[in-house]
Amino acid sequence: MKQRLPVQGAQGDLLRLVATGRAASRADLSRLSGLAASSVSLRVEELIEAGLLAEEGSGASRGGRRPRRLSLAPTAGVLAVADLGAHHIRLGLLDLSGAPLVVEERPCEITDGPEATLDLMAEAFDRLLEEHVPATVPLRGVGTGIPGPVDPATLRVVTPSRMPGWNEFPVAEHLRARYDLPILVENDANLMAAGEARSWPGRENLMVLKVGTGIGCGVIVNGRLHRGRGAAGDISHVRVLSDSSVICACGHHDCLEAYASGAALATALTDAGIIVAHTSDIVGLVNDAVPEATSMVRTAGRRIGEVLTVLVNFFNPDVVAVGGSLSAAEPLITSIRAAVYERCLPLATRDLEIAPARAGRDAALLGAGSLLLDAALSPSG
Ligand SMILES: [Zn+2]
Repeated sequence: MKQRLPVQGAQGDLLRLVATGRAASRADLSRLSGLAASSVSLRVEELIEAGLLAEEGSGASRGGRRPRRLSLAPTAGVLAVADLGAHHIRLGLLDLSGAPLVVEERPCEITDGPEATLDLMAEAFDRLLEEHVPATVPLRGVGTGIPGPVDPATLRVVTPSRMPGWNEFPVAEHLRARYDLPILVENDANLMAAGEARSWPGRENLMVLKVGTGIGCGVIVNGRLHRGRGAAGDISHVRVLSDSSVICACGHHDCLEAYASGAALATALTDAGIIVAHTSDIVGLVNDAVPEATSMVRTAGRRIGEVLTVLVNFFNPDVVAVGGSLSAAEPLITSIRAAVYERCLPLATRDLEIAPARAGRDAALLGAGSLLLDAALSPSG
């Protein structure tokens, strides 16, 4: 069953307050929304009637009558979300509060092209829905992360590296032909940033780095994902200073990605006679104290850190969180930290935290859930 959320205007705001855990009673909703108690009650009744909210038991009392506790109805719906990587796809179902119901990962080569990849994704969604969700609970939205730049206006992939056949492919249209629902198509680092932001309460400005096969960065400004025109946070093609010269997949020389990404390190290690198939193999080599690998990861961290010095001074974030498969190699974050603290203004680093990402492997899926809920509740749907 597929269905758009039957909410309008203020109903959506109230539902979002409950879904995100900020409100648990009619009194909370009235206080947080600024609406009069009577109009909150009216809309809550409508949301209960629509099968989206449930109200039961007793909440925390503030004196007087105990308020009844509001929560999302178990039948309110589910979201289907995916995170496409170069060699795998991680996907799952979330409830409307963004909590994962089921998550799985399977091999998938993005070089097989968009149609094969998206059809594989949709088939996996259909199977998960059939196996894990009662037929009475509707699907409310579908979202996917893409390991390349996405134009937020058209939801098309724009000149991605290492993704033959994907340039200008209408990902959203392709999914919409199958699901007549809110569709989210977003750069993977942006999704990861949106998911990671939930793990840093009280921190409003974050840079979330994804260092894996490629290098990405998502930017959270005042608690919200900053997309710009789609390229915001793209640090992979910043030119780095080097004695050598390397050509990047984008056609320019000496991009950060051509020196410091998992793909670049894998090539360099293979050239040095150490065979590496995937980025995770590099982490294994570092953990086994293979000197070439440790040294290359340290240099990669320093190069990333040098690019970050400019960005940290300019943007002055509260947090730089480092995730992605290469982030499990400990020297990476140590060298990033060293470069940033050495070169940034004291005022920029005084309260700065540079730390491993906290949200774990499902960060992008959680981010997709949070952005999809916004999309499902927005007036335009
Ligand atoms: Zn480049």
